[in-house]
Amino acid sequence: MGEQLKIACGVFGAANFKGQSIFPYIYWGLRAQNHRGHQSHGFLTYNNGKFHVYRNLDLVPKVKTNALQEWFGRLPGCVGIANVRYTTSGKTDEKSLIKGTQPVTASKDGSKMAVSFNGNIVNIFQLRKEISKKFSGFSYECDADLICHKLLIELTEGRDLASAVKTCMEEIEGAFSVAGITKDGEFFAFKDPYGNRPLCAGHSEDRSTYAFSSETVGLDINGFERDFELEPGELVTVSEDGFKREKLVSNRRKAFCAFEFAYFARPDSRFNIKHVYEIREEFGRNLVNENPDIVKDADIILSLPETGDDAALGVQEASGLKWERASRRHRYVTERAFILLNRERYSTIEKKINILASKVKGKRVIVTDDSIVRGDTTKVIVERLRKMGAKKVYLFITFPRIIGPCFYGIDMATYGQLIGSKHSTEEITKIVGADAVRYQSIDGFIKATGFNRDHLCLGCVTGKYPTPLAQKIAEEMKKRFLEGYEETGRLYEIAEALEKAGR
Ligand code: SF4
Repeated sequence: MGEQLKIACGVFGAANFKGQSIFPYIYWGLRAQNHRGHQSHGFLTYNNGKFHVYRNLDLVPKVKTNALQEWFGRLPGCVGIANVRYTTSGKTDEKSLIKGTQPVTASKDGSKMAVSFNGNIVNIFQLRKEISKKFSGFSYECDADLICHKLLIELTEGRDLASAVKTCMEEIEGAFSVAGITKDGEFFAFKDPYGNRPLCAGHSEDRSTYAFSSETVGLDINGFERDFELEPGELVTVSEDGFKREKLVSNRRKAFCAFEFAYFARPDSRFNIKHVYEIREEFGRNLVNENPDIVKDADIILSLPETGDDAALGVQEASGLKWERASRRHRYVTERAFILLNRERYSTIEKKINILASKVKGKRVIVTDDSIVRGDTTKVIVERLRKMGAKKVYLFITFPRIIGPCFYGIDMATYGQLIGSKHSTEEITKIVGADAVRYQSIDGFIKATGFNRDHLCLGCVTGKYPTPLAQKIAEEMKKRFLEGYEETGRLYEIAEALEKAGR
């Protein structure tokens, strides 16, 4: 919880084959995933050949009992998709945010398509050009528009759904996990060939409803059983007989986002056999084994809730030190507390977390946290603990040092904003004012996830990105950053602009 990063989106979709309204399922599936995006939310259902859409800004709202009929009337049908979004692409003024809210739709020559998307597209300029040629007046509001229009182009040119999706997988570089509905109400989902963002499939107990969800918590809240995590490059379609899985593109290299384990995902979600909280506990045990000198010199453990909590349990188990539960969240201060003015950043952490000074005074404290991005909130935490009388402050950070930006949908766009791209661990220790900062090793991190190294994206901690264009841009931008070039916006947008200007 050290920093206020945002992910791009959360996806949910479901189809019922016994004529039941799908709205309650997609509502709860989305509500369970509000942590994946809180700037906007949207629902889309399909009924008798028509799409019915509701989109709005902010968190998924409560549905009041007296408004239930209104919601059911607004979103009729047995098939639906939904999305929560935080903007990492497109424009961010309020008008554009409303326009860029998902699910998105496109229509052409009597055909149409609706998609809910999580990810980030790298080669947007090339795609925008292609789509603008086929759709006069095409206006790009978010990356989901690109996928939706690209799919429709392929379909209207006579290809079937599998071929259309395969073309997207082959021609679009970046991260995309998508749930969609065709003009005939066919419900489907697919993942990019690297499988960067999560998407799983599950069913209701009586097998009348089948669903896709970014995280398993979207299935859990509906009482659904998880069937599988979609494979990279896989298309899954749904009928009353269940899921039909088709591997369209095979990649030896896979690249599931490693940061999901440390920060984004809910601890009660799972991506393979382990729940995220079990992996975070393992992170804590690793940090103890990797840092016996610190453990020997500490009195208590303190966690930064909530992503540091599970690691703290692991540290406690492996070290025998007491995990002092003296740091608690102010419960109804939500993520929105961070959408404030920049000058307020230093105080927002205090608005979110309460630390009991009496438990910290005179103690040598190990603080568990998920990551250090900019370093400013970490600095505030250390200052606060010092003011409370902590004798020593040691930071155990579960995600290895972030040295480069993310090109796949996480809100870390520039080298300049990352303390770890400019400074060594020793320098960071001094800047944040701690007695020591210890990051978990990359090898320890990988082992705890249970994934193979070449099945994870570790671009932001290794500088080695899984896709070629991202790698090229990262190298170019790193060079420019070191030369003192001022970064603004998305790196690849800048790179494209520079390219156009012939620089
Ligand atoms: S670069 Fe980092 S944050 Fe981005 S997808 Fe890869 S691991 Fe995740």
